[in-house]
Amino acid sequence: MLKDVEAAVLRDPEGAYTIETVTLDNPGPHQVVVAVRASGLCHTDALPRMTGFPVQPPLVTGHEGAGVVEWVGADVTDVAVGDHVVMSFAHCGSCPECQSGHPGYCAKFAELNLFGRSISGGVGATDSQGSPVGAKWFGQSSFATRAVVDARSVVVVDDDLDLTVLAPLGCGVITGAGSVLNTMRVSAGASIAIFGVGPVGMSALMAAKAAGATRIIAVDLHESRLDLAKELGATDTFVGSVDDLADQIQTLSGGGTNFAFDTTGVPSVILTALASLRSGGMCGTVAVQLGDLVLGSGAMDGKALVSIIEGDSVPRTFIPQLIDMWKAGEFPVDRLIRRFDFAELNEAEKLSGEGEVIKAVVVMP
Ligand SMILES: [Zn+2]
Ligand SMILES: [Zn+2]
Repeated sequence: MLKDVEAAVLRDPEGAYTIETVTLDNPGPHQVVVAVRASGLCHTDALPRMTGFPVQPPLVTGHEGAGVVEWVGADVTDVAVGDHVVMSFAHCGSCPECQSGHPGYCAKFAELNLFGRSISGGVGATDSQGSPVGAKWFGQSSFATRAVVDARSVVVVDDDLDLTVLAPLGCGVITGAGSVLNTMRVSAGASIAIFGVGPVGMSALMAAKAAGATRIIAVDLHESRLDLAKELGATDTFVGSVDDLADQIQTLSGGGTNFAFDTTGVPSVILTALASLRSGGMCGTVAVQLGDLVLGSGAMDGKALVSIIEGDSVPRTFIPQLIDMWKAGEFPVDRLIRRFDFAELNEAEKLSGEGEVIKAVVVMP
């Protein structure tokens, strides 16, 4: 049943993905097998390409999968064969953070999502030579035609909805929208400056607009992204390389914004985001931090800085909430998406990295 799975295998951190036939390990209790129809590309999929990243290839990445359930394990009672599902991040379900509705802060988040293999030691797949291939990336490894995933990580959706639009809701979109709606709780009349309007920043922007924020400032290095940001609700845009950016935002917003959101992880950008806030404001940051953040005297000045994981979302409640907003025309996530054939994964990754594409989604054959 799990033989002849086509998977994009990363064998060299600096090399291209190669589509190979692999065999997935048999699923266990509490798991389901999903025939993957589409998968978004998330910036985190490139982590294994970073120097020093502890997980070694060969590895199948991809963690914004959506598809159709074709098998359910023992003890799975809330997902059925034939259900259309969005797959989200893995979480243990039993630690205090999972139990209190914060699975993004699961005590086992790193090992369940970023090790590319299971905690018990199984790697998830074997290649045509019988050699192990990591296939537990974010508990799903969705750059493949099938995925074995914990039932608690899947969200059942209506089967008349376009899975190529819903796939990115599993990670990047909830990261941005959840930061705005769940953690910062941006409210009507508020102001927010968003640093980096890639898929995460653009999702934050759409959520801020839906929440009624009246001043939404988008900052990016790509003019094309700023143009789309304006169409989706940005009231003001800045090219990130301008001088005195924080001063300009302070002036524009009458003394600083209520909220700032950093999607870059670059310490100098986080400092600019903090400096753009008014006293009492909150800055959220979501990316892997690229170096030490040095807070000079006065940098905080009554402000809050919070690191947010997966938008502090409970996927089974938050993803349906975003789908409802999308259907109501309040969250046009489809505007971010460009579809590629699965065989074009390398091209999709390249164009995403260059900022040409906001959210690439590969569609399985
Ligand atoms: Zn947990
Ligand atoms: Zn992600």
